[in-house]
Amino acid sequence: MSWVDFKKAWQDTSVETCDVCGNLLINRYWEFVDEEGHPRRACREDDEELLAWLRQQRKRPGYAIFPSLE
Ligand SMILES: [Zn+2]
Repeated sequence: MSWVDFKKAWQDTSVETCDVCGNLLINRYWEFVDEEGHPRRACREDDEELLAWLRQQRKRPGYAIFPSLE
């Protein structure tokens, strides 16, 4: 887990978003591996903890399913 800088050309207009909360990733992202071994890109370090919390909540009965986090 570490901060990674984007190395884009100035004319590259592609848009990257946080895998956890959907915020725009600007200039750099927080890279970590989630509990299931998937690499994730987040807008802030705290999103790593947020993703783990969301997974716990999803195990509760009646909690909504978020396909984007599958
Ligand atoms: Zn985020």
